[in-house]
Amino acid sequence: MNGKAIVDKLEDLEEQIHFYRQLGVDFLIRPENGLNDREKTSAGLISFETGPEDQAAIAAEWEKLLRRINDCRFCPLFQGRTRAVPGEGNYQARLMFVGEAPGRDEDLQGRPFVGRAGQLLTKIIEAMGFKRQEVYIANVIKCRPPENRTPRPDEVKACSPYLLHQIELINPKSIVALGKIAAEFLLQTNKSMSEIRGHFGQFKGIPVMPTFHPAYLIRNEGNREIKRLVWEDMKKVMKLLETS
Ligand code: SF4
Repeated sequence: MNGKAIVDKLEDLEEQIHFYRQLGVDFLIRPENGLNDREKTSAGLISFETGPEDQAAIAAEWEKLLRRINDCRFCPLFQGRTRAVPGEGNYQARLMFVGEAPGRDEDLQGRPFVGRAGQLLTKIIEAMGFKRQEVYIANVIKCRPPENRTPRPDEVKACSPYLLHQIELINPKSIVALGKIAAEFLLQTNKSMSEIRGHFGQFKGIPVMPTFHPAYLIRNEGNREIKRLVWEDMKKVMKLLETS
């Protein structure tokens, strides 16, 4: 590695540490520290519980589901999309993140959480000791609403069966609901995020932690208290995963 590459790496690291400090992170887990896949299994990061035949059936089911989403015309949002954004990650993830709907970057790439809010979510996931590809990330709505407006109830109703199917296939140990729309849908509540965050609810028996959407953190960039609250919520999720 040349001198410039080392300086760039150090600057990245410094930026990362600065972010963690702002979040109030007081420790970091380093799962890549010599853990092989088998050790990660016992640490609960990857599941090898299914055999090859089951895995082929699961892969076929996913393929069918993703094709249905990509071709879907169930609600008017299909008209404005560049690409549908089904979701991505580990099909056997123990932890799932559910947001609201794709934005501009996501619509262009067909991938969830890839804009600024997505980069922040990736940092949060890594601060929790996971790699992004070890969790599953999806939205309630799979196509971008015009001008990023809030999805309408009829759109949520039309699109939500896809998310339900994803949750059913993954069967995660916990779900983080990012923002009001995801929390409203998963927890069937009209309460404000300030009222419900920090407390586990249930979705079909799966513990759901509602917390602020990363885009909200970006809009309130100078507010360290909101970052601290999100990190408090994530610590509760980490604790739950340790014991389940
Ligand atoms: S938002 Fe959902 S229901 Fe509407 S067209 Fe896209 S995939 Fe289909």
